[in-house]
Amino acid sequence: MNTLRIAGGQVLRPDATVEDADVLVDRDEGTILDIGADLDADADETLDAAGCLVTPGLVNAHCHVAMTLLRGYADDKPLDAWLREDIWPAEGALMPEDVRAGAELGLVEMIKSGTTGFADMYFHVPEIAAAVEEAGLRARLGHGVVTLGKDDADARADIDESLDVAREFDGAADGRIRTAAMPHSLTTVAEEYLREFVADAHDEGIPVHYHANETTDEVDPIVDERGERPLSYAKDLGMLTGDDFLAHGVHVDDAEIDLLDEAGTGVVHCPASNMKLASGMAPVQKLLDAGVTVGLGTDGAASNNDLDMFDEMRDAAMLGKLAAEDASAVAAPDVVRMATAGSAAAVDLPGGALEVGGAADLAVVDLDAPHLTPANDLVSHLAYAARGSDVRHTVCDGRVLMRDREVLTLDEDAVMARAREAVASLRERV
Ligand SMILES: [Zn+2]
Repeated sequence: MNTLRIAGGQVLRPDATVEDADVLVDRDEGTILDIGADLDADADETLDAAGCLVTPGLVNAHCHVAMTLLRGYADDKPLDAWLREDIWPAEGALMPEDVRAGAELGLVEMIKSGTTGFADMYFHVPEIAAAVEEAGLRARLGHGVVTLGKDDADARADIDESLDVAREFDGAADGRIRTAAMPHSLTTVAEEYLREFVADAHDEGIPVHYHANETTDEVDPIVDERGERPLSYAKDLGMLTGDDFLAHGVHVDDAEIDLLDEAGTGVVHCPASNMKLASGMAPVQKLLDAGVTVGLGTDGAASNNDLDMFDEMRDAAMLGKLAAEDASAVAAPDVVRMATAGSAAAVDLPGGALEVGGAADLAVVDLDAPHLTPANDLVSHLAYAARGSDVRHTVCDGRVLMRDREVLTLDEDAVMARAREAVASLRERV
C-alpha cells in the first residue's frame, strides 16, 4: 500500500471539534485510513502540518471556472445589463483553447486556496474536463444551455450537447469527474425545451443544475406569466428532485423553502456574487432552519472576483446575519459546514469531511500568521480570519496537488502566461 501521512497538525472533525492528530491516507484508494496520534512514521510521503489546521478540502458548489479570463472585464452593473452588454458578447468570442486557459487559471487558484472539488456550468466542457484531469481536483461538470433568442435547431443542438457531455464525461479522470445537465435558468430556457430536457436527463440518471431565483427580474416574469413562484414551476417541470441542485435561491418565499426541503434539492449560496450584482440577500438561516441542504459557491470570477472559498465563508456569515437581522445567524460552524459537507452533499461529490474511510480531500491551513493569532477558536478563524493564501498543502483523492505553496500538477507561471495571452487576443476580437 502506498501511503501519505499529514503529520503533526490539528484536525477539524465533522462535529466541528479540533483534535491534535495525524491523518494517514491510502494513496492508491484515495481514502483516509486513520486519524489519530503518532500514526505510521514509515509512510511513503509525509506532509508537515505542524502549526497547521487540517480541514476538509473546500467544495466550490457553483462556478464558471473559465470566467477567470473575464475577471475585472466588466464590473459595477446589474445582472441583466452585465450579461447582455459585456459577458455574453465576450463569451461568444471564446475559443476552446481560451476556455482551457481560463479553466487552468481557475484550477490553480482553487488549489492554492484549498478547494478540492467544484461544480461548473460552462461550454467547451471537454476542455474543462481535460484541465480537471490534469489538475487533479474533483468536479461535477456540465454544458450550460440557453434557448432564448435561438431558433429551434440551435436550441435543440445546445440541449443535445449538454446531454452528450453529461454522458461522455461522467466517471472521467478516474471517477473524479461527474456530470449534470445544466439548463442556464428558468427564464433563459423556454418551457417546451425544459420539460423534455429535464425528463431526458432524469431518464438516464443525470442530475440537473440551474440558476434559480437569483434576482427579482428572474422571479417576477414567472409569477406574472404563470401565477406561480419559480420553484413551484421548477417542481412542475420535474427539476426539483433530491438529485438536482440550484444556484442562488436569493428570492425564495417560505412556500418555496418548504418545496426545497420536501424535495431534498440542494441550494448553492453565492454571497459575493449576490452582493456584487446587488441581486439581494438569500434567507440562508431560514434555509438551514428548514433543513435544506445548503452549499457555498463563488459563482464565476467575473462576478466575485476571485475563487477563494475562505472569502466566500466570511461573506456568507456576514450577509447571512444582515439578511436575518440577527448576529447569531449563519454562525462560523454553519459556514464551515456549508463550504465543506454542505457543498459536497449539494453537488453529490465525495469529500467535505475528514473521516476514516472517507475521501482523502483536504487542505492544510498554516496558522502561523498575525491575522490567525491567537488561536482562540480555529473554526472561527476559518470562517472569519483565514485567507486562501494561508493554505500550505492541498490534497485531493490522496494526491498532493500543492506542497508548501507549490502547485505540483500544473505549471503556475505557464498557466498565468497562457491566460494573459488568451485575453489579449480576446480583447482584439471583441
Ligand atoms: Zn452562475
